[in-house]
Amino acid sequence: MPDTMTHRMCVRCVMDSTDPDITFDSDGVCSHCHTYDQTSKRLWKKGEEGRIILEKLLGQIKKEGQGKRYDAIIGLSGGTDSSYLAYLGHKWGLRMLAVHVDAGWNTEIAVQNIENICNKLNIDLITEVIDWTDMQAMQRAFFRSKVVNQDIPQDHAFFAALYKYSTKNKIKYVLNGYNIASESCLPLAWRGNNAMDVTHIKAIYAKYGDRPLRHYPFLSVWKLRFWYRLTNALTMVSPLNLIDYDKLRALDELKSAVGFVDYGGKHHESVLTRFQQLYFLPTIYGYEKERHICHRSFYPDNYPESRP
Ligand SMILES: [Zn+2]
Repeated sequence: MPDTMTHRMCVRCVMDSTDPDITFDSDGVCSHCHTYDQTSKRLWKKGEEGRIILEKLLGQIKKEGQGKRYDAIIGLSGGTDSSYLAYLGHKWGLRMLAVHVDAGWNTEIAVQNIENICNKLNIDLITEVIDWTDMQAMQRAFFRSKVVNQDIPQDHAFFAALYKYSTKNKIKYVLNGYNIASESCLPLAWRGNNAMDVTHIKAIYAKYGDRPLRHYPFLSVWKLRFWYRLTNALTMVSPLNLIDYDKLRALDELKSAVGFVDYGGKHHESVLTRFQQLYFLPTIYGYEKERHICHRSFYPDNYPESRP
């Protein structure tokens, strides 16, 4: 709970001093609003400008895919952003390989969404099942460590699968559902460490792990630092930043096109991330990620129909 004596909220959005790094300008507008304005101006290309860049990008992706079975790889979590991107990729005529990681925390809704998308859009799907004993051991270690980002074990396994199957199928482009519209201003302190930081993961397991791991898919530090960069493999692209992305409209389109089911909140498609956002972070740290998610609805250009 915020301390009411020192508690302060932005005059423009719902972010407040529960973020330890937040600052306010002389008008009371918070640092996240300024970050959003700058990031959005720099990276989110809407309208005609976005259409031209997107067309060029799709041309490059298709050219790179010539003579290969797939043009791009896409990670599917069963959430709205990646699902909508798969739907758009299909509309754009991309031949995609979808990869899903089953780390044991999937909700039934997420699994059903993934199956519906891939079946109805005729997208090849690989489901990588992570050894459940290893996964539980890894997650126990992370719970004991109490680090902010509890999703690292699942997220790292997800990236490991993306690297594995893109390399195996010689796919250069990774379609990434990252978007400014709903993900641009998460406070650094709430985010925690990066899931690609293998050294961090191994250090946590060395300190808090309780049994040897057998099959957990660690990415190679050497390959991450040198090989993938040198070979220009796995070029991440975020096409949702090249369209007028509107999440509510995307949800409606997905519902009617592939029978998509709304799972209630951002990252609630996984039991673990739902637990992290609704219980772990608010209880241990006082971080309410739902608050950051509300932040975006304060921008009428993102969600016009959500405004009064
Ligand atoms: Zn603000």
